[in-house]
Amino acid sequence: AVNPRNAQIDGNVVAAKSFAHFGVTHMFGVVGIPVTSLANRAVALGIRFIAFHNEQSAGYAASAYGYLTGKPGLLLTVSGPGCVHGLAGLSNAMVNTWPMVMISGSCDQKDFGRGDFQELDQIEAVKPFSKLAVKAKDIKDIPNCVAEVLDRAVSGRPGGCYLDLPTDVLHQTISESEVEELLKSAKSHKSEVSIGLTPKTSEIEQAVSLLREAKKPLIVFGKGAAYARAEGELKKFVETTGIPFLPTPMGKGLLPDTHELAASAARSLAIGQCDVAVVVGARLNWLLHFGEPPKWSKDVKFILVDISEEEIQLRKPYLGLVGDAKKVLELINKEIKDDPFCLGKNHPWVEAISKKVKDNVSRMEAQLSKDVVPFNFMTPMRIIRDAILEAGSPAPVLVSEGANTMDVGRAVLVQTEPRTRLDAGTWGTMGVGLGYCIAAAVASPDRLVVAVEGDSGFTFSAIEVETLVRYQLPVVVIVFNNGGVYGGDRRNPEEITGPHKDDPAPTSFVPGAAYHTLIGAFGGKGYIVGTPDELKSALSESFAARKPAVINVTIDPFAGAESGRMQHKN
Ligand code: ADP
Repeated sequence: AVNPRNAQIDGNVVAAKSFAHFGVTHMFGVVGIPVTSLANRAVALGIRFIAFHNEQSAGYAASAYGYLTGKPGLLLTVSGPGCVHGLAGLSNAMVNTWPMVMISGSCDQKDFGRGDFQELDQIEAVKPFSKLAVKAKDIKDIPNCVAEVLDRAVSGRPGGCYLDLPTDVLHQTISESEVEELLKSAKSHKSEVSIGLTPKTSEIEQAVSLLREAKKPLIVFGKGAAYARAEGELKKFVETTGIPFLPTPMGKGLLPDTHELAASAARSLAIGQCDVAVVVGARLNWLLHFGEPPKWSKDVKFILVDISEEEIQLRKPYLGLVGDAKKVLELINKEIKDDPFCLGKNHPWVEAISKKVKDNVSRMEAQLSKDVVPFNFMTPMRIIRDAILEAGSPAPVLVSEGANTMDVGRAVLVQTEPRTRLDAGTWGTMGVGLGYCIAAAVASPDRLVVAVEGDSGFTFSAIEVETLVRYQLPVVVIVFNNGGVYGGDRRNPEEITGPHKDDPAPTSFVPGAAYHTLIGAFGGKGYIVGTPDELKSALSESFAARKPAVINVTIDPFAGAESGRMQHKN
């Protein structure tokens, strides 16, 4: 009999074995030439393969999976066009600093340059969107290449990596025993990166003494702190010092939005007047107004905590602390413990913020408490907020995209647990919703996933509702349907002339689109709602069922603003 260790295996099997060996448990992608066998082999080795309709959605899923789990999210694509579609996910991972690995099959190396099937120089194509792009030029390269891309995606500042697997390499063969040896000797590259980097003691002391002397300190945290799982240290930091805090949109939930030191509802006051701001795992980019006047005071002293030295150099803060957010906060907490200080409720700054929060919250509640029909954005959002809160713990993961839908949702929906909000992110990427829903359901199987999306955001990848049904994922997609981008046709008819004046507006979709019937085509549950009672009943039924559902919410097309809160840029 043949010794099984001498059995010959091909590149697809070697790749699948390598992923399993290095701890991969999930892959997202679209199969086809030349990677179908790779997917099947991965499944045979215990990896869950979530098959999508389009690499773009699968890539968004892989990126979000990386963020939610701290392990690289894997995207598998075919060559050429598959790789190009996957770039959407890879670039999204880079911009959000989430760990992800895209693996694409590519054409036969000997035929490259003479018009082979789906030929593309994929290494060149992915370079601007990845930390590292490697090609396995021979079957023996595969184990080491896999180790390298998986390591690099999570090391230092997380991001996307790329692995190219040419058709001829996938068809080469090698003995099983040789693969075992190659896997054993595949290098770990972790030593090369800043995993263990921590600030100097003197820098920690300086940070704490700045905070101690500050009159109006503020703690800001973002999705980098969420990724670092810094919630425990953050809670300690906030609660021992009594300093008000402000989460970025995806930082929401690290500490509950309902916390008495939450300054979100007094954001303008908090950032406009603070004198020392500790910013943890959040970039001073457009989302935080670049840390500049007029939104921030010109004298504010920033203490930036970030894993990336490059980021600190770019922003030139008063004090930069390079390191993992959780570790740095641990050091800060330790330093404070020796000589504790706490602002207390009666501190003028804390009082000013909490008064402003109360005023703004009661003003918003007055708006929210009205039942407006046909629906504006506020009424259904309040009903959804209450349903999510009633769902209790573990809290559902909220996926949010759209212009007005995301803006209103950010203010109204309440986050109480870390990493329970996924939205358009640093790039303002629309079309991420369904991919994020699938990633969240797979990464957090104990949680319900609730998407609150505009009709435009939803329809970028609406066909992935079939994927929800196929895998029976507990995802409820709520579509705010106002007939198009920003709300359908809002043009002044007199201003529209020319031969195409009778075409639908570039912003409009078919009015009253029956999105709920789309999921019905695959056996999922669809609802159409236009009143508070209808919405409440659809939510309670679908949340209890924990099965794929789409709730098509009819919104007044004239509600909301064009471009949401970004009108000045459109
Ligand atoms: P937000 O969108 O919430 O404002 P950003 O994406 O702008 O957040 O910023 C996240 C930052 O977190 C990035 O600069 C990234 O380098 C940083 N980061 C990533 N991982 C860690 C970590 N483990 N510790 C500290 N910072 C981190």
